[in-house]
Amino acid sequence: MTPYDVGLAALRAARYPEQAPALPPRSRGVIALLEQNCTVCMLCARECPDWCIEIDSHKETVPPRTEHGRPRVRHVLDRFAIDFALCMWCGICIEVCPFDALFWSPAFEHAATDATALVHEREQLRQWLRTVPPPPPLDPAAEPSAERVAARKQAG
Ligand code: SF4
Ligand code: SF4
Repeated sequence: MTPYDVGLAALRAARYPEQAPALPPRSRGVIALLEQNCTVCMLCARECPDWCIEIDSHKETVPPRTEHGRPRVRHVLDRFAIDFALCMWCGICIEVCPFDALFWSPAFEHAATDATALVHEREQLRQWLRTVPPPPPLDPAAEPSAERVAARKQAG
């Protein structure tokens, strides 16, 4: 059974729209953006097979951190939009983001009759964050991650 079949069966079982369906928490409904994590690296936009992510940015010079340091240039996000009329829910953008700035939300009630309304701008993508479920708890029997081991060593 495909994830699509699971979702459809849940909708039917819940008599949607009168009753909300109990979808699996990791259902792919819409993509949420955690803007603070985005470094405008453009990886998601380059890897998207449908070219449905649009990102605009400008450069800003950041003063040096130390007395003899050099000023650095960083990209500042101006626009981040996903066209859900083109998106095929493959999840590649979320997988490739190196900074955990994109997340699946199970929210699915964003259908529109006007194709332009399916272009979600950064404000709307940010709003979806509220519907992203928390990550599943860690397995207490699992080996600690390399990062955790390194942090413990550093702490002495
Ligand atoms: S889910 Fe796939 S098609 Fe949709 S925006 Fe991400 S990479 Fe593009
Ligand atoms: S891959 Fe992640 S960090 Fe890079 S532009 Fe996309 S959302 Fe931002």
